[in-house]
Amino acid sequence: MNIKRNVLLNPGPATTTDTVKLAQVVPDICPREKEFQSIMAPMRDDLVRIVHGGDDYTSVLFCGSGTICIDVTLNSLLDAEKKAFVINNGSYSQRAVDICKAYDLPLIELKQPINSKPDLSAIEEILKSNDDIGYVYITYHETGTGLLNPVKEVGALAHKYGSFLITDTTSAYAMMPINVYDENIDFCMASAQKGIMGMTGLSFIIGRKSIIEESKNYPKRSYYCNLYMQYEYFERTGEMHFTPPVQTIYAARQALIEYFEEGEIKKWSRHQRVMDAIHKGEDRLGLKEILSREVQSGLVSAIKYPDDINWSFDKIHDYCYERGFTIYPGKIENQGTFRLCALGAIDEADINEFWKVFENALVENGVRIPVQYIEA
Ligand SMILES: *Cc1c(COP(=O)(O)O)cnc(C)c1O
Repeated sequence: MNIKRNVLLNPGPATTTDTVKLAQVVPDICPREKEFQSIMAPMRDDLVRIVHGGDDYTSVLFCGSGTICIDVTLNSLLDAEKKAFVINNGSYSQRAVDICKAYDLPLIELKQPINSKPDLSAIEEILKSNDDIGYVYITYHETGTGLLNPVKEVGALAHKYGSFLITDTTSAYAMMPINVYDENIDFCMASAQKGIMGMTGLSFIIGRKSIIEESKNYPKRSYYCNLYMQYEYFERTGEMHFTPPVQTIYAARQALIEYFEEGEIKKWSRHQRVMDAIHKGEDRLGLKEILSREVQSGLVSAIKYPDDINWSFDKIHDYCYERGFTIYPGKIENQGTFRLCALGAIDEADINEFWKVFENALVENGVRIPVQYIEA
């Protein structure tokens, strides 16, 4: 079978290997069969292993996109009388705030600038003056800007004040090395279409068993999206409570084989090589980013729209798209940006090809090179 290869530079779903795509083509199977359960048990262990969790961590699978894990952790892990504390410095932590509001959870929101690391003393101040904080929530890597948050430091503060840490690692997990112990992470999460380079529809939470067990008697704010209920069902039966995304799970199994074959360190080097090639092309064409490179994750570059009357994101996008390269609009309010991301089964050579196509797109549309910016 010959499947057209597209290079996806959007922040997930990622470019996948053909072996992962084809792993979905399997005989029809009822997911309640033992044969299917025998896939999920080792998968749960593998997902914990990726972030170096030991026996005190478990993973719980859900059928849904990555946002389901934000929803599940926030709504399930808050006891009555406790407050959620969300550090908000980007569009993904804004999503966490929106979820807390949708459930009407008591919430402390700390707004921080989107282009620099959050202020640890402001975080500590809040923890010090509120003894009813249930958990601290921070996005590991803000995919809208590419900002890497100081999760280890925030986790240490959470623990110092008797709370625990939930972090959304969706756009970092299985891309950069993460160690839940070293980084003071009690709960993290991801979805199969990002770091592990699988298909959409499967997401997972990795977290401390003891805290999940404690949450048994916390208010149940959702029936489908409850962490304890899904965990308990897995432990008792080896299955997901409701129908799992069968073919996506077969693809994830293959993706995990390929993840461990490539290896954590080699994979991270490959993503860094890709980002270096992205940065080189930006510098050559004069494209400017939102963030200084010191605070970037190395996985997402958010680029300002050039100030050129001939610049049209849609036209450039369409030109690149027709040639097999997908670029993605930004997520920053009041500022035109687009993003180039280093996830997926791609390498430096793909980026070099991409920049040739992108440059042609600028030329075809009459955008001046190097690109121009009005502000200093
Ligand atoms: C991709 C992503 C998600 C999940 O988004 P979905 O559209 O639900 O898959 C959540 N958090 C972060 C940081 C992400 O990058």
